[in-house]
Amino acid sequence: MEATLPRTNELGFYEMRLESVGGLGANLTGQILAQATVRGGHFNGAHFSSYGSEKKGSPVKSYVRLCAPDREVRTSSPVEKPHLLAVFHQCLLKVDGTTAGLYPDSIVLVNSTDSADEVRYRARLVSGTVGIVDALAIAVRNGTRTNTAMLGAIVRAAGFIDPEAVKKAIVDAFQERYPQLVRANLAAFTQAYEGVKLKEFGPDSRFSFPSPEPHPAYMHMLGYANAPVGGAILNPGNTAHKDLSASRQGIFPLFHRDRCIDCGLCTMTCPDYVFVWEQGLDRKGQPAQVLKGPNLQYCKGCLKCVDICPVEALTMECERPEFRFTADVQLWGPPDALVTLSRENEPAKWTQDEGYYWYRVS
Ligand code: SF4
Ligand code: SF4
Repeated sequence: MEATLPRTNELGFYEMRLESVGGLGANLTGQILAQATVRGGHFNGAHFSSYGSEKKGSPVKSYVRLCAPDREVRTSSPVEKPHLLAVFHQCLLKVDGTTAGLYPDSIVLVNSTDSADEVRYRARLVSGTVGIVDALAIAVRNGTRTNTAMLGAIVRAAGFIDPEAVKKAIVDAFQERYPQLVRANLAAFTQAYEGVKLKEFGPDSRFSFPSPEPHPAYMHMLGYANAPVGGAILNPGNTAHKDLSASRQGIFPLFHRDRCIDCGLCTMTCPDYVFVWEQGLDRKGQPAQVLKGPNLQYCKGCLKCVDICPVEALTMECERPEFRFTADVQLWGPPDALVTLSRENEPAKWTQDEGYYWYRVS
C-alpha cells in the first residue's frame, strides 16, 4: 500500500476528528490510528482527545493529525477542519458542531443503519463522501465496543492506512490487559473494513451557505473574532437536544405500566433523570403523580432502574432482534464464564459463527 497522504491542509497535515460520547472507546481508536500510522515510519503524527467528566454519555472528541515523516508536529490544537470525520453514532449528528469545518471533499463516516442519502440529508452536507457502517451491530455480534468497528471503517475510507499495521496496533492495545478480547476486536475491525459502504456526493445547493439555516460546515467560523459578546448563549435550553442513545449497547429498559406501583425507586436511582411523571390517579382513584416511563432519548442503558424495580415493571430488552446476544451476556455473563443452565434450567448450548462470535442456541 502506498504510504502517502491523499491531501493535506496549508500546514501539511492530514487531519481526522472522531466525534463520540464517553464509553464508546473513541480515545482508544485515535490512539491506535496514530500508533499504526506513525510506528510504520511512513508518517509523523499526533493524537489527543478532549472530554469533560469521565462519565458514560458525556461528549468526547478525539483528534489525529498526520504529516510527512520529515515534518514536525508543533501544534496540539483541536482539529477544526477534518479531512475525515468519524461520527460514532448517528444521533450525534443532531449535536451542534458535530459536522463543523468540513471541506467540500471531506469523508464523513457514520455509525448508522440508515442509507448514505438519508445521513447526508440529515447532516446537511454540501458535498463529499459519506460512509455508513452498522458499527453497533458489529460490536454487539463480537462482544466489543463500537470503537474497533469504527476503526475498520475509518481505515477503509481513508484509503492510505495499512490495515495490517492497524491490526498489529489492536493486538498491542489489548494483548496485555484484555487478551481474551483480541480476537473479537480483530473480527470487529475486519467486518467493518469489509462492510462499510461509501458514497460520493456532488454539491447540492439546498445545503449551501448562505441559506435560512446556516450549514454546520461554516460553524467553525464562530471564534474569538465573532463570538457573541460576553459568551452569551444564543440557543438557551439546548440541553433538551441531548441524546444519550449513543451510549446504549443494544439494550434498553422496557416499561410495563400495568405492573408499576409508582414507588419512584427507578427515578431516584437513574443517574440521568430519564423518567417522566404525569398527573394521574392512584389505585384508589385519588389524584397522584404516576410514572409515564423512561424518555429513551436520555437513557444510556445502564439498567440500574431494572435492577432496582421491585415488581419487574422495568425489564431489559433488545433494541433489535439480532441484539439478543447482548442481552444474554448481560443476563448470564460472557460465554466463557457461563454457568451451564439455560432459562429452562437445562444446560445452555452455545455456538460460534465463523469462529468468531458466540450466541446461545438454547
Ligand atoms: S421502580 Fe418500578 S414500580 Fe417503582 S416507579 Fe419505577 S417502574 Fe414503577
Ligand atoms: S437504563 Fe434506567 S437507570 Fe440507566 S439511564 Fe436508562 S433509565 Fe436511567
